Amino acid sequence: MKLAKRVSTLTPSSTLAITAKAKELKSQGHDVIGLGAGEPDFNTPDYIIKAAVQSMEEGHTKYTPSGGLPKLKEMIAHKFKQDQNLTYSSEEIIVGTGAKHALYTLFQTLLDEGDEVIIPTPYWVSYPEQVKLAGGKPVYIEGKEENDFKVTPEQLQDAITSKTKAFILNSPSNPTGSMYDPEELKAVGEAALDNDILIVSDEIYEKLVYGGAEHTSVAQLSEKLKEQTIIINGVSKSHSMTGWRIGYAAGRKEIIKAMTNLASHSTSNPTANAQYGAIAAYEKDDGSVENMRKAFEDRLNTIYDKLVELPGVTCVKPKGAFYLFPNVKEAAKMNGYDDVDEWVKDLLEEEKVALVPGSGFGSPDNVRLSYATSLDLLEGAIERIGRFIEKKK
Ligand code: PLP
Repeated sequence: MKLAKRVSTLTPSSTLAITAKAKELKSQGHDVIGLGAGEPDFNTPDYIIKAAVQSMEEGHTKYTPSGGLPKLKEMIAHKFKQDQNLTYSSEEIIVGTGAKHALYTLFQTLLDEGDEVIIPTPYWVSYPEQVKLAGGKPVYIEGKEENDFKVTPEQLQDAITSKTKAFILNSPSNPTGSMYDPEELKAVGEAALDNDILIVSDEIYEKLVYGGAEHTSVAQLSEKLKEQTIIINGVSKSHSMTGWRIGYAAGRKEIIKAMTNLASHSTSNPTANAQYGAIAAYEKDDGSVENMRKAFEDRLNTIYDKLVELPGVTCVKPKGAFYLFPNVKEAAKMNGYDDVDEWVKDLLEEEKVALVPGSGFGSPDNVRLSYATSLDLLEGAIERIGRFIEKKK
């Protein structure tokens, strides 16, 4: 059967590919340390699980409005007000089945054939594929390592053409953990504003910030920037609810309305009981979000110092999310590899440590290492990577 062009050009997720390989080795009895995970290793807080169970017992097991339960939208609006002093009405919010699906619906709503979306590298793997699925064209600008992987307003300005529709900001970033400060956000935001391109601000890692860093949304910086921005967020990473699939978008009414129409013909609605869980997540704070953040910060500080001691490895210190994105080009070269992907493959074969090659994120000299796993395993992994580099020198 000849499949549609739109799926035949899709690149499989590099994150999932390495996880599958690591699982296969594990099932053969190998002691594999997998650092490919893109999700917190904690269970969802108990009070959220209880609320979802209760909702089902009370009979909330039917369709809900396509854009999400009014009560959940109300709680999301409350969260925006409390955390960022942003005011959104329920018509300016849509709940989707995860932040990923909110982004998918957004690009389907925004893009016509050939429309361009500017994506800074390194990027989260799904941005280019989602843009292409909507008939759009990803245009890359390089977030340079010496600038903490962030792009400048000049780079953005140079990439804008008459076909540019949107620009994606992801702060804190997956895979680098970099964060834009308010001045930098204002500068890139104004370049987008001057050229009337929409800012897609993916803030899914908002709650996971370290070293006293504070998260700022570009939409907070002026009323005009708020109008020009669609914020994407969700409970997956903040509340360790990746499997629940609840994310959302907030922005201009006409965009949200069109996205909701589209959702009514695709998902019908996000899963009812998961929405009740998300309501509970935002209604109450039992300290678990902060406890998880602290655990990540401890791991980051312990593991970062050990990582940068390895020969041929340098790493920008992340300010958020739960990834390290070291440059291992020199280490690979020392070991006789021109290609970091090959080095990653042999590291998995020989030392049973699974990292994600940076090539999948548009940064072939780097690897992504997730610290959403125990300190013991993380320390074990660094030891093995060190042994691999020394052995092959
Ligand atoms: N945006 C970024 C940058 C991510 O890393 C992820 C998940 O890995 C998502 C969005 C998707 O989150 P969700 O699980 O809510 O779909």
